Amino acid sequence: MMRDTVRKFAQEQIAPLVKKMDEEQKIDEGLVKALFDNGLMGIQAPEEYGGSASNFMVSVLTVEEISKVDAGVAIPVDIHSTLMIPLIKRLGTKAQKDKYLPRLAQDTVGSFALSETSSGSDAFGMQTTAKKDGNHFILNGSKCWISNSDIADIFIVFVNADPSKGYKGITAFIVERDTEGFTIGKKEQKLGLRSSGTCQLHFDNCRVPEENILGEFGQGYKYAAGYLNEGRVGIAAQMVGIAQGTLDATIPYLLERKQFGKDLFSFQGMQHQIARISTQIEAARLLTYNACRLVESGDSFLKEAAMAKFFASEIAQETTIKCIDWMGGVGFTKDFPQEKFYRDVKVGSIYEGTTNIQLNTIAKAIRKEYES
Ligand SMILES: Cc1cc2nc3c(=O)[nH]c(=O)nc-3n(C[C@H](O)[C@H](O)[C@H](O)COP(=O)(O)OP(=O)(O)OC[C@H]3O[C@@H](n4cnc5c(N)ncnc54)[C@H](O)[C@@H]3O)c2cc1C
Repeated sequence: MMRDTVRKFAQEQIAPLVKKMDEEQKIDEGLVKALFDNGLMGIQAPEEYGGSASNFMVSVLTVEEISKVDAGVAIPVDIHSTLMIPLIKRLGTKAQKDKYLPRLAQDTVGSFALSETSSGSDAFGMQTTAKKDGNHFILNGSKCWISNSDIADIFIVFVNADPSKGYKGITAFIVERDTEGFTIGKKEQKLGLRSSGTCQLHFDNCRVPEENILGEFGQGYKYAAGYLNEGRVGIAAQMVGIAQGTLDATIPYLLERKQFGKDLFSFQGMQHQIARISTQIEAARLLTYNACRLVESGDSFLKEAAMAKFFASEIAQETTIKCIDWMGGVGFTKDFPQEKFYRDVKVGSIYEGTTNIQLNTIAKAIRKEYES
């Protein structure tokens, strides 16, 4: 039921804007408001904070449905559902929850800032620091690749507040956009996912009150690693959505287009490929839902989330390539949506942990299982 509602929303409110947002490299302002008004930004926020108090599965299904139409628009929904709201809901003080959850659920976009130029896969090698000064911390350094940062007002920023302790100095801060010394820098010109803004952040003697520490001092590395595991399930859902969206846009053409007096779908060489791709999409979907089930039940899901994200990003890439092939020349033009799906899908094997990093996690978990 919820899935049908999101599907309808995506068809009616997102689809007409896809081309424009891709060209302009910006999400439509009215659409951001519509995401809030339809409760899609506060899926996991408690009702008393203006959210819909739904579960992780609802977040994942929502990301999948939106990604069938525009994976870039799924980014703010995914970041709110799998990172911003869960982090503040579970780790925040009462004052932080009262202050930030209603805004994140109702009208204010949030952003999760971990990566830096020198620390991507090695995320905890970050250079941005925070130095205590009375009841404030002074932040200095820069973040890069930060999704939503063009439109966000609330940021969760990971910095090293005690470099002498190595990664155990990493601390999460909530930083508001208008804080002095905090500026949004260069916006990246991207291959795909262009409706989602990705910018650098700069902290130049930026004073943040101590009360804005999220969770415990020095525990930021644990929070980032832990919550990104959930985030990966969201990205797997985004990839499943892209794959299904591309296939859904392609099959009708194959049924209609005739060569050698038959529709393209009639050729067995085509049918076997279509059957193979459809099966792979279903397998990725089930891996994703299984990881989701484990998140919901509170069981360990580290390996399963990595498998879902790795596999879904691989097969989604393969799907977009195949669909362009099946379309022939028109698949290579901007008159059809396949080329945008092909550009959007590439990021799946890069962000929230590259494919190699997912494979490292899977292999580590397997070794542990066999050694224990
Ligand atoms: C569109 C987009 C949006 C993003 N949004 C955000 C965001 O909102 N917040 C945020 O904090 N970050 C964000 N990121 C950053 C993203 O998480 C990083 O790009 C990603 O973690 C990879 O880091 P890197 O780019 O530095 O690549 P690198 O870490 O330099 O990796 C380069 C290559 O080396 C390989 N490699 C690295 N280490 C190993 C290893 N140990 N074993 C095997 N291979 C290895 C990688 O697999 C990869 O192929 C975003 C990135 C993009 C492109």
